[in-house]
Amino acid sequence: TTALKAPPLDPILDHIVRSHRPQRETGSVPANIPLLAAVPFDRFGIAVATTSGEVFRSGDADVPFSIQSISKVFTLAMALRGDSSGSLWSRVLREPSGTSFNSLVQLELEHGIPRNPFINAGALVVTDHLMEETSDAATQVLRFLTAQAGSTGPFIDEAAAASELSSSSRNLALAHFLKGFGNLRQAAESVVENYVRQCSIMMTCVELAKAGLFLARDGQGALGTVVSPSDAKRIGSIMLTCGMYDAAGEFAYRVGLPGKSGVGGGILVIVPGECVICVWSPRLDAKGNSLAGTAALADLSDRTGWSVF
Ligand code: GLU
Repeated sequence: TTALKAPPLDPILDHIVRSHRPQRETGSVPANIPLLAAVPFDRFGIAVATTSGEVFRSGDADVPFSIQSISKVFTLAMALRGDSSGSLWSRVLREPSGTSFNSLVQLELEHGIPRNPFINAGALVVTDHLMEETSDAATQVLRFLTAQAGSTGPFIDEAAAASELSSSSRNLALAHFLKGFGNLRQAAESVVENYVRQCSIMMTCVELAKAGLFLARDGQGALGTVVSPSDAKRIGSIMLTCGMYDAAGEFAYRVGLPGKSGVGGGILVIVPGECVICVWSPRLDAKGNSLAGTAALADLSDRTGWSVF
C-alpha cells in the first residue's frame, strides 16, 4: 500500500466543505437540461478514494448527482479496452479543442474527425464504437460503473434523459454531421439517445471516486484489469489536456491534476498512484465547469501537495 503524502484527510475535507460550499446563488445552470436547474445551489460534496482502499468523504458526498460528461472518461476506457487494433484513434483525435464542448465549427474544419473524445462530437464517436458491441451501450456503461464502484447505487435518470433528448437539436446536428462525413456507423438518433442516457447516470461522489480508481492504479480496477497501464496513462493525459472543456489550461494551472468535469457540477480528478477525488457543486462557470468545485480542488491540491508536477 502507498502511504498518502498528505496530512490526515478528514479535517482537510471538512475544511474544504466549510469554506467552499456556496452561501448564495452564483454561477449558471446548463441551458439544455432543464431538470438540472432544479438542483439546490448549496449542494457540495467531496470524496477521496485512495489506491490503498480507504475512502474519505465530507458534505453531500453520498447524494447522487447527474454525472453528465464525466461519463466520457469511462466510455473512452470501455472503448479502448475492446480496441486492440487502435481503430478508435483513426476516428477521433487527441488535441485540446479550445472551443466549446458542443462546437460544430471545428468538426467541419477537421473533416468530421472530432478533436478529442471529451468534446461532444468525440464522445458521440466513442458511443457509436461501443454500440458495435451492443445497441444498448448506456446500460453497458451503467453496468461498468456499478461494478467499478462496488455499489448498486448508480442508475439512469430516465426523466432527465428524456428532458435532455427533447432539447438535443445540437447533439443531433453533431451526430448527423459526423454521419455525413462517414464517421458514424449507427443511426444518428440512436447514438444521441445512448449518449444522453449515459450522461444521465446518477452517482455519488464516493461512487465516482471509487469507479475511477483504476486510473490512479495503472489500469487495475475493482475486479482486475480495466485498461493497460499505457492506456491508463493516456486517458490521464487526455483528461489533463482536454478534460475541462475550453478551460483545460486554466484548470491545469490552478489544480495541476488530470480532471474531467460534467455540467451536472461534478469533477473527477486523478492523483496517479495515490487516489481519485470527486467533488460536486452544481453551479457552473462560463465554460461549464463547477465554480465551487474548481476552487475547492485548487485549495485541496495546495493543502495536500497533490499534483502531477
Ligand atoms: N449531456 C450533456 C450535453 O451533451 C453533457 C454536457 C457536459 O456535461 O459537458 O450537452
